[in-house]
Amino acid sequence: MSLSLTPQGSHFVDGAYVEDADGAVIDVIFPATGEQMAKLHSATTAIVEAAVESAQRAQRIWAAVSPLERGRVLQRAAQLIRENNEALSELETYDTGKPIQETLVADATSGADSLEFFGGMIAADSGQYIPLGGGDFALTKREPLGVCLGIGAWNYPTQIACWKAAPALAGGNAMIFKPSETTPLCALKIAEIFIEAGAPKGLFNVVQGYGDVGAMLVNHPGIEKVSLTGSVPTGRKVAGAAAAALKHITMELGGKSPILVFEDADIESAIGAAMLGNFYSSGQICSNGTRVFVHEAIHDRFVARLTERTESILIGDPRNPDVQYGPMVTKAQMQIALDYIEIGKAEGATLQTGGVRVSPSDAPDGFFVSPAVFIGVTDDMRIAREEIFGPVMSVLKFASEDEVVARANATEFGLAAGIFTQDITRAHRVIDRLEAGTCWINTYNQTPVQMPFGGVKASGFGRENSAAALDHYTQLKSVYVAAGPVDSPY
Ligand code: NAD
Repeated sequence: MSLSLTPQGSHFVDGAYVEDADGAVIDVIFPATGEQMAKLHSATTAIVEAAVESAQRAQRIWAAVSPLERGRVLQRAAQLIRENNEALSELETYDTGKPIQETLVADATSGADSLEFFGGMIAADSGQYIPLGGGDFALTKREPLGVCLGIGAWNYPTQIACWKAAPALAGGNAMIFKPSETTPLCALKIAEIFIEAGAPKGLFNVVQGYGDVGAMLVNHPGIEKVSLTGSVPTGRKVAGAAAAALKHITMELGGKSPILVFEDADIESAIGAAMLGNFYSSGQICSNGTRVFVHEAIHDRFVARLTERTESILIGDPRNPDVQYGPMVTKAQMQIALDYIEIGKAEGATLQTGGVRVSPSDAPDGFFVSPAVFIGVTDDMRIAREEIFGPVMSVLKFASEDEVVARANATEFGLAAGIFTQDITRAHRVIDRLEAGTCWINTYNQTPVQMPFGGVKASGFGRENSAAALDHYTQLKSVYVAAGPVDSPY
């Protein structure tokens, strides 16, 4: 696959690139240089209608294909993604600004995992046989929902497209995917790959656009299900609109997740995880553990080593394979992070390290904010309560287990949580008390496809990955089969 940054058209509908220059302009900017890489257009009503019609056609064909053959197509797509990992990773780096050393291992590869997993499991999926006595029985069948809509955030454009498409397509649905307007390029390549893998035209259409196009699609009567990855405010709007039309939803929303580091923790591991869970992808990850609660007995040692290790992170042009830390996705997102850093200082937290705009010599115009660590943070501060979605870690001190559990849960969010301790009894006791959908013991932010991923409370509904995701893209039909004559009183 050759890497062309400017696609042949803004949208991918019915197996081909299409354009409608009447749509609002979407400028695609490389965050490391601020240069414009491509100019796309937001979808017009005509594009939306064409995408829905084509997806409905494809879905009828696809639902009749055997699960084994559907799985084969998904697995072929996974293979093509792996063969093109280098080009897809470069594109992901241009779209998001994430370092190539991250995108080579975390994006297209994770999308391929998802397609392999659901492609492999779907033929083995079966319904229930329920004996009812007297020869009667019931059976259940898993049926597709129809055309599903995926709406993406900008941080993981390839992964989000695949995590939504894989269970949807495995279950016999078609998908229309609307990428974030900030990172619109990667999903187009996935659409090309599905066609090359043998999927019917229209099975996976990509429609570009701002929030209004997302809303138009959510409200379209041809859409049966909406899966959104985005912020809580957008989630409230999308879930509200979908509920009014009684559509199925999956909501993968924001977080302000806690990491609890007890006094018996392996400190180097806990620091490594806290750094990964705050600075990977320049902090732009929903499940990040942005509230790091450290036991008072090890707090100062933890902070000293954390500072040392944070200050040695190599910041620079994300195309350089040695670079460990890239720019933020946009100038606006950089400004949000810098503003929160000012808020943290004004609230009385101590900025231990980082937290300033930097201009690396190889990418002086990029949107870089150096990884920030605040200490002396208290629970009432905005930097400890609000999702920043940037490289801003808050370190908070605690003294007892009951106290830290109560403080960790005192948030509207419930996406993820992590705990570091050598005491296995405590690990499970604390995890059971944490209000979070996705938890880790002695690690952080690992999201293998076999494990369900998703949040509770305001962080969302539904799950991605694992067999559980299939339940959110299918519906059950129950069939009662009678063995004898109908016993009617009439
Ligand atoms: P966002 O909410 O601004 O936008 C998400 C998507 O929704 C975009 O494609 C946008 O165009 C679309 N949209 C906006 N308004 C809409 C409307 N009214 N109707 C339909 N669609 C609409 O989020 P973002 O800034 O792109 O991403 C960052 C957020 O995403 C953070 O809050 C982060 O935590 C969250 N996120 C969550 C997960 C997860 O899996 N839980 C993963 C990544 C990001």
